[in-house]
Amino acid sequence: MPTPSTPLGEFDLIGKYFTRPVQRVALGVGDDCALLQPAPGMQLAVSSDMLVEGRHFLSTVAPERLGHKALAVNLSDLAACGARPLAFTLALSMPRVDERFLEGFSRGLFALAEAHGCELAGGDTTQGPLNICITVFGEVPPGQALLRSGARAGDDVYVSGTVGDARLALEAFRGTVALAGDHFEQARVAMEQPQPRVALGLALRGIASSAIDVSDGLLGDLRHILQRSNVGATLEVDRLPRTAVLAAQPLALQRECTLAGGDDYELVFTAAPAQAEAVQAAARQAATPVTRIGRIEAGSVLVLVDAQGQTVADHFGSFDHFKS
Ligand code: ADP
Ligand code: MG
Repeated sequence: MPTPSTPLGEFDLIGKYFTRPVQRVALGVGDDCALLQPAPGMQLAVSSDMLVEGRHFLSTVAPERLGHKALAVNLSDLAACGARPLAFTLALSMPRVDERFLEGFSRGLFALAEAHGCELAGGDTTQGPLNICITVFGEVPPGQALLRSGARAGDDVYVSGTVGDARLALEAFRGTVALAGDHFEQARVAMEQPQPRVALGLALRGIASSAIDVSDGLLGDLRHILQRSNVGATLEVDRLPRTAVLAAQPLALQRECTLAGGDDYELVFTAAPAQAEAVQAAARQAATPVTRIGRIEAGSVLVLVDAQGQTVADHFGSFDHFKS
């Protein structure tokens, strides 16, 4: 048995922190490959997201929240496609074996994994700067995945939950905004523990015409839908749902956070007006509020309008790792 003075080796730490019994996966951690067994006839939906310290998270984040977030951002991609989570792999690089970190990280990771029936099937562990790369695998019936390319002129545009709190928390960490303690904590939870909208993505299959999850900022992510669908849109910027904490901030900051904030992990999606009732039924079924925020238009222009219908200048960027 290793004592605290003899750090765990690679295989000991994999066994202790990253090996759990599996049910849905045919073969999990411990062999050269994992074996996945999607239900007969299902397509596999696959997505990877990497989290780099200083880039995607601050060194101050609690390990448990980091474990949650690393998987949450990946599950959010499955949600955006309307896929049901099945399994994931974890490639982890860390400077040293820190059992306090590993214990918290794995606890947060597995709590979210279990909540979504998503099993850790394998991975890789190496020494290096703290860097977490997860690949998720989900199932979706052929032809039913929600794509970015299906929006049509006349469709309504919706967003789930609220947007902007994660950016507000980042501004508070940067010291550009002062928040009262409980307000800071609420915004910080939004930033550090986003809840992937998996149930909503599943409920929107066959209803939404397109979908994307908001990781880089609502405007930028909506633009991906517009480009892939060859359409434009009118977005009612003051209709974007926000928490009371954000709504107490100056309007310019509210707009910056809701439109360009990023790290929201809400779903932006479109649906034909005839599906409006079905959208609300899906939202109730998933216990996730959705708000109509605009409309898809012919053309390729994204127009922002305020509550009075006046055009709002679009100076809002979207996050780009090589431009920011
Ligand atoms: P190989 O060298 O054959 O790629 P490794 O020795 O790296 O395999 O890993 C041994 C086993 O542990 C494999 O089944 C691998 O998938 C699993 N594994 C390694 N790191 C992790 C991790 N961080 N989380 C889950 N499983 C892991
Ligand atoms: Mg290896």
